Amino acid sequence: AEQIRVAIAGHGNLGRGVEAAIAKNPDMRLVGIYTRRSPEHLKPRDAVTPVHAMSALPDHTDRIDVLILCGGSKDDLPRQGPELAALFNTVDSFDTHARIPEYFTAVDAPARANRRTALISAGWDPGMFSINRIVGEALLPDGATYTFWGDGLSQGHSDAVRRVPGVAGAVQYTRPVKEAVDRVRSASRPTLTTREKHRRECFVVLEEGADAEQVHNAIVTMPHYFDEYDTTVNFISAEDLARDHQAMVHGGFVIRSGNTSKENAQVIEYGLKLGSNPEFTASVLVAYARAVHRLNAMGQYGAMTVFDVAPGLLSPKSPAQLRAEQL
Ligand code: NDP
Repeated sequence: AEQIRVAIAGHGNLGRGVEAAIAKNPDMRLVGIYTRRSPEHLKPRDAVTPVHAMSALPDHTDRIDVLILCGGSKDDLPRQGPELAALFNTVDSFDTHARIPEYFTAVDAPARANRRTALISAGWDPGMFSINRIVGEALLPDGATYTFWGDGLSQGHSDAVRRVPGVAGAVQYTRPVKEAVDRVRSASRPTLTTREKHRRECFVVLEEGADAEQVHNAIVTMPHYFDEYDTTVNFISAEDLARDHQAMVHGGFVIRSGNTSKENAQVIEYGLKLGSNPEFTASVLVAYARAVHRLNAMGQYGAMTVFDVAPGLLSPKSPAQLRAEQL
């Protein structure tokens, strides 16, 4: 069979993850990487994939079956998503949860008008976690759903710590509180506060002459980011930060507990332990690129989410093969 021709729009962590993921999927081929920066400075992982200016995309519509959008959710995708869905079948990982409905509408119209298929908000949260939340709720209507994140490196919280005066470098990990996870797993359906569910741990390199106690207090009292959590601050050397805290680990759990009768409780749990958040997210996007390619061939146009895609479409195997092997 013909390989699916995939291209990447935006070459950050996620874009590099997509390069790695396509290398694991022989039914796909990476045909190009597109960037807003000067293409000659970007090095593709395999050293041979052509890198082009983003502005070349309108001339390349015949070369690409699915374009994977790897721009940031805050500033890039709200503009790139609708624009590129008019030209290509797309997959993206738009993760500003509160804005997903308006983003869906903005992508849907141009995709539909141009007979393109645009899968938005894939990844793990939103994405695989969302699927597990709706399945849990549908199977156990009398129940409660809990999402825990971590252990994971939070980009936004790390940035917030780096902006504190006296901080030379920092990372922040979000960690689920074990007692809370255990209570949820016991099917007691606890009501949990923000503080009870997650704690935050920072690893901070101080600037020369900075006051550790002042920095500590500025972090733990920071509104929105830390004041509602129990936060630990560890001061470490620049060498330790560089050696031990570069991996973008993440993960978490979605747990649904419910009752099917007064006597019987049921618990469903889905968990992820990710060595690299962007590489895993990219793997999800690539599987959905396969589905998008098929859905477009089936005449299903417009914006979609992971809720609209049947699981069999993610697999390179045929429906008959899947029935024989996996049911
Ligand atoms: P990055 O900041 O690494 O990249 C975003 C964009 O910034 C790139 O597409 C690139 O565009 C540009 N860029 C990258 N590096 C540089 C640089 N050194 N200088 C200037 N510009 C640069 O973000 P990530 O790849 O880590 O994440 C992308 C998005 O993925 C996040 O915003 C998040 O919303 C989403 N995400 C979703 C998840 C989910 O589960 N749904 C999970 C994880 C992430 P260009 O090449 O055009 O310059």
